[in-house]
Amino acid sequence: MLEKLKIPQSMIDALIAHAREELPLEACGILGGIDTTVAGIYRLTNVAGSTSRFQLDPHEHADVLRDLLQREMETVAFYHSHPSGPSHPSAEDVRLAYYPEVATVIISLEDREKPNVSAFLIANGNIDPVAIEVEKD
Ligand SMILES: [Zn+2]
Repeated sequence: MLEKLKIPQSMIDALIAHAREELPLEACGILGGIDTTVAGIYRLTNVAGSTSRFQLDPHEHADVLRDLLQREMETVAFYHSHPSGPSHPSAEDVRLAYYPEVATVIISLEDREKPNVSAFLIANGNIDPVAIEVEKD
């Protein structure tokens, strides 16, 4: 059971930067790594083009999976932003959580001055928080 994610500070910063760049739309992507340690960020196109939901581009997703395989990494988390909502998963996020073993990372820009990055496991309609351990790099 995943209890925490280890993410380098530089990647937290990169997630927030991505979320800001996509405003007013939701940004989305994949965090690759090994076990619970995040080692790479893959930005994906939000084909929903929406301010309140996201859908990963399936072709880009397939490319990411190939790249992860080559690097002997796996999908540690899916991430997306909430441009004006809290970092808690939305009802839609819970409904569309198809990977109970993969963390969901949400970047909230509700407070534009103080973005919040949080992680969760969503399974069978249940939301469990996952701690994020920020590592210096
Ligand atoms: Zn969401």
